[in-house]
Amino acid sequence: TAQESNLIRATLFPGDGIGPEIADSVKKVFNVADVPIEWEEHFVGTEVDPRTQSFLTWESLESVRRNKVGLKGPMATPIGKGHRSLNLTLRKELNLYANVRPCYSLPGYKTKYDDVDLITIRENTEGEYSGLEHQVVRGVVESLKIITRQASLRVAEYAFHYAKTHGRERVSAIHKANIMQKTDGLFLKCCREVAEKYPEITYEEVVIDNCCMMLVKNPSLFDVLVMPNLYGDIISDLCAGLIGGLGLTPSCNIGEGGIALAEAVHGSAPDIAGKNLANPTALLLSAVTMLRHLDLHDKADKIQDAVLKTIAEGKYRTGDLGGNSTTTDFTKAICDHL
Ligand code: ATP
Ligand code: MG
Repeated sequence: TAQESNLIRATLFPGDGIGPEIADSVKKVFNVADVPIEWEEHFVGTEVDPRTQSFLTWESLESVRRNKVGLKGPMATPIGKGHRSLNLTLRKELNLYANVRPCYSLPGYKTKYDDVDLITIRENTEGEYSGLEHQVVRGVVESLKIITRQASLRVAEYAFHYAKTHGRERVSAIHKANIMQKTDGLFLKCCREVAEKYPEITYEEVVIDNCCMMLVKNPSLFDVLVMPNLYGDIISDLCAGLIGGLGLTPSCNIGEGGIALAEAVHGSAPDIAGKNLANPTALLLSAVTMLRHLDLHDKADKIQDAVLKTIAEGKYRTGDLGGNSTTTDFTKAICDHL
């Protein structure tokens, strides 16, 4: 039917640990909200696929490349030799160059601040994560931090484009160029070049230590933050802490050719896996970022409102937020709000 042909295909990796439980919650909520998405589910394999050198199958990567959009639950990389970590495989194979983490205060869930509304954009492919470490001589080791013009321009472009298309006014480049003059210096130079093409967006440069202090004292000073890999890792967790922690914070990875792979920030939470205790909010809000990427803003708003209302009401909350609801009861409450 015509309705069926209007469905958008998206890849879904339920993942490990609490992954399948919270992915189930997303599927239920999407159903009730009538989101025009057809999931193509892919599971982490039980054997290494020689084509990817990891437990992720070649077909699952092809699915993301074809659909250009997907949602990923947490994946715990099995211990052992001869394979690549799952997250590294995804990042490299799909060239996921930017990690975008929206971070906003949830009304009704009290933390130190109620006016947090930040976007952190992390360069995801180089910096200290290049894996180039070696011993020079006994007792002396070296780690290479790689910054390239190409990757810096690419993430800066994405940050300004994001700011412009999301009605944001300011982009702050976070750095330590006073010490890392060459590497962070090049990163800043690229950000400046891109900033010139966006005169309507205010551009500023903030040293990372000062940025941490300002974020903790007054997070509303910032809007969109863009930064090299390691700084992004640290700052985005700091921002998550400002609004209530791991169960709540979504993210989206942007890759080559317009790929968007949304994922919760948290891990597989083996301590509560299979017990119907996990908070699906982070994965639900990640799915919302995926809908926004697809310009399905009415569906995104509807789902986001229902999640936030349920948390604000406080009647159904999972254990991490101080409540005693199960994943399924919390999900049902969200569906009722829809
Ligand atoms: P992994 O190795 O996969 O990262 P982990 O042991 O580090 O797993 P995390 O998933 O990082 O565990 O979680 C850290 C803590 O936060 C755990 O106690 C976990 O139960 C809790 N947690 C993480 N995500 C959620 C969630 N969605 N709902 C409730 N609690 C969560
Ligand atoms: Mg972890």
